[in-house]
Amino acid sequence: MTTTLWHERAAAQQIDGRAFIGGQRVWAKSEQRFDNLSPIDGRNLGAVARCDGADVDAAVAAARAAFDDGRWAGKSPAQRKRVLIKFADLVQQHGAELALLETLDMGKPIKYSQSVDVGATANTLRWYGEAIDKIYDEIAPTAANSLALITREPVGVVAAIVPWNYPMIMAAWKIAPALAAGNSVVLKPSEKSPLTALRLADIALEAGIPPGVFNVLPGFGHEAGAALALHMDVDCIGFTGSTRTGKQILQMAGQSNLKRAWTELGGKSANIVCADCPDLDAAVASAIGAIYFNQGESCNAPSRLFVEESIKERFLEKALAMMPDFQPGDPLDEATVMGAIVDATQLKTVMGYIEAGKNDGAKLLSGGRQARGESGGFYVEPTLFDQVDSSMTIAREEIFGPVLSVLSFTDVREAVRQANATPYGLQAAVWTSDISKAIQTARALRAGTVHVNQYDGDDITVPFGGYKQSGNGRDKSLHAFDKYTELKTTWIQIG
Ligand code: NAD
Repeated sequence: MTTTLWHERAAAQQIDGRAFIGGQRVWAKSEQRFDNLSPIDGRNLGAVARCDGADVDAAVAAARAAFDDGRWAGKSPAQRKRVLIKFADLVQQHGAELALLETLDMGKPIKYSQSVDVGATANTLRWYGEAIDKIYDEIAPTAANSLALITREPVGVVAAIVPWNYPMIMAAWKIAPALAAGNSVVLKPSEKSPLTALRLADIALEAGIPPGVFNVLPGFGHEAGAALALHMDVDCIGFTGSTRTGKQILQMAGQSNLKRAWTELGGKSANIVCADCPDLDAAVASAIGAIYFNQGESCNAPSRLFVEESIKERFLEKALAMMPDFQPGDPLDEATVMGAIVDATQLKTVMGYIEAGKNDGAKLLSGGRQARGESGGFYVEPTLFDQVDSSMTIAREEIFGPVLSVLSFTDVREAVRQANATPYGLQAAVWTSDISKAIQTARALRAGTVHVNQYDGDDITVPFGGYKQSGNGRDKSLHAFDKYTELKTTWIQIG
C-alpha cells in the first residue's frame, strides 16, 4: 500500500478506547480517561479508559464467573482448538487494521507491524490452539493395587500484564496458552500501547470466546496493574516488562494470595564475535539488524557487542557502511525499517544514555542525535559507540533504544566473563568456526537462549525467557503450559 493510502487510513481510523469486561465495551467506573498520543507525530489518537481497582474487581469477577460455570474451561480441547484457530484467522483478516493501530500506537514501521506482529500473533494463537488437543496426561508407575493419575488443569483466573514494545505479540504469548488450557484471562496492556489489545478482545468475541473469558483493562501500572497483582481472586499472573516492575509483581503476589507469578524481564544481551567467525558479513548484518530492529526496543536486543581485537577494524568498517539503511523514517512508509521511539519519556531516557556514553569516554562513531524533529514525533538515529568498557553505564544498563556498545577482547574466556557480569541473562551469541569453542562458550554463557553463528533464531516451538534478573518461567513452546496449568495427582485404590 502507498504511504499516502496508509496516511488516509490513519486519519480515518476509529479508536475505541473503552475497556472490555464480560464481553462488553465499557468506560472505567470512575469515568477517568487518558489521552493516547501517537509517537509518529505526537497526535492525540483518542481517549482511553483509565481503569483502576473497581474495574479490576469487575473484570476478575467476570473472569471467575466464566471459569466457575465451565463455559470455556468445560469445553473439550478440540472445541477450544476450533475457536482459537478461528481467532487466529480473524486476526489475519483484520491484519491491515491491527497493523495500522500497532504502528500508530507505538511507532514501529508498518512493514513490520504487518509482517512480524500480525503474523506472529495469529501464528501463536493458531499454534496453541492446534497443540491443546494433542497433549496427553500421565499415569504414574505405582503398585498394581492403585492408579495414580497425573493431570493438568487450568489454574483459573490468569492476569496478563504486558509492555509496549510488541503489544500484540507479548499479549498473544500469554493469552494463547492460557486460553488454550481453559483459563479465563484479564489482560492489562501498557498505557503506552493499549489499542491492539482492545481490538483483539472484540475479535476474540467474534471468534467464539465466551463473554467473561477474555477481558482487557487499559490503564496505568500503579493503578490497574497493581490492583491485578494484589487481587485475592487472581490465581496466576503472567508478567512481561522491566526488571524493576517484575520485582514489585513478585512482592505483590507474596503480599496477597501467593498467586503464581511468572516474569519475563529486561536484558543486556552480549554478542561475541571471534576472529574465526565463519562469515564476517553475516555477523555484521546480524549484529546491526538485531540491535536496530524495533528501534532497539527489544528485550533480547544484542546491545553489547564483543568483537575480537584483530577483526574489530574490519567489522566496524562494514557496520558503519550499514548505518544509512537504518535512518529513521515515516513509520507509515513501507520502505521504512526504523520508526519512532514509543514516547517522549523513552526518547529522553535514550538521549540520556547517549550523553552518559559520551561523558564516560566511549567513542561515538555514528548517530547520537534526535531525528525527524519536524514530524512532531520521537526519533533517534541509529547510534554506535566504540571503545566501551564494561564499567560504563551504557554497557551495564538496559537502554531500550537504538544504541550499540562495542567492546573488544583478545581471549574469548574474558569476553564470556564480561558477558556474564550483568544482573541480566536473557540471550547471548557467539560467532566462531571452532565447534568446541562454540559449545564451550554456549555452555558458559548464563542466558536463557544462546545463539551460535546467528542472532535471529526465533520460532513459536522454542522456549523464550531468561536466567537471573531477566525473569523466570518461559513463554512460547509447550513449556508455556507449565505456567498456566496446575498439576493434579489423583490416587485411585483398585479392588
Ligand atoms: P514496565 O515494567 O514499565 O511496564 C510493563 C507493564 O507493567 C505495563 O503494562 C505497565 O503498565 C505495568 N506496570 C508498571 N508498573 C506496575 C506496577 N507497579 N504494578 C503492576 N503493573 C505495573 O516495562 P515497559 O517499559 O512497558 O517495557 C519494557 C521492558 O519490558 C524492558 O525492560 C524489556 O526488556 C522488557 N521486556 C521483556 C521481554 C521478555 O520476554 N523478557 C519482552 C518484552 C519486553
